[in-house]
Amino acid sequence: MKVKTRIFLPTLAFLLLTTAALTFEAPWVDPDTALKKLLDGNRSFVANKLTIKESSAPTKRLGLVAGQHPYAVILSCSDSRVPPEIIFDKGLGELFVIRDAGNIADPIVLGSIEYAVEHLGSSLIMVMGHTRCGAVKATLDATGHEDPNVGAIVKKISPAVQLARKKIKGNDQAGLYASAINFNVKLSAQSLLSESPLIRSLVDSGKVRIVCAEYDVQDGTVKTMSCKMK
Ligand SMILES: [Zn+2]
Repeated sequence: MKVKTRIFLPTLAFLLLTTAALTFEAPWVDPDTALKKLLDGNRSFVANKLTIKESSAPTKRLGLVAGQHPYAVILSCSDSRVPPEIIFDKGLGELFVIRDAGNIADPIVLGSIEYAVEHLGSSLIMVMGHTRCGAVKATLDATGHEDPNVGAIVKKISPAVQLARKKIKGNDQAGLYASAINFNVKLSAQSLLSESPLIRSLVDSGKVRIVCAEYDVQDGTVKTMSCKMK
């Protein structure tokens, strides 16, 4: 029995240490702190002082093998100029990123967000559009004869273009484009609440916060804005 114990204890200690190394649990991050981390990271990006290399080191990777606890969900555009991990200076395990052309929310996007907020503990959902968005421009220029798959994107963004046309009078094409980008973010954010009872209940309880934002492809800044339609 003594022999067994001597063998067992070191083995147990090794297993516990190994398991601890592989199951590092990040503490829950509240929505305000999550937003601050994102905006601080964006300032590092703009200042050309990225720390991504350190936050994606092998030790970090190994610490995430057993699970992930990303504190923020980012719904953003697939545009190659808008990679969330880079513009927020974030490494492995920090962001749960969903990207499509035009940062639009369909059932698959909603289900992905629901998974993150319900099972991974993400407390912040940022819906982020960007200047010079090609998907919004394509919708502004749409003829109604688009192929079905691109047509599905245009159809989803069209309500934002209609709202922008009502708001921007005259021939202000730049203003119309900017307004359509803005409304498109807000409509996506709104659909998270109107089409996902789970997200709505978590937002109502204060466990999750939705933030609307826009990224400027020229100066690299991310600016938050109200998600209210106006
Ligand atoms: Zn875009």
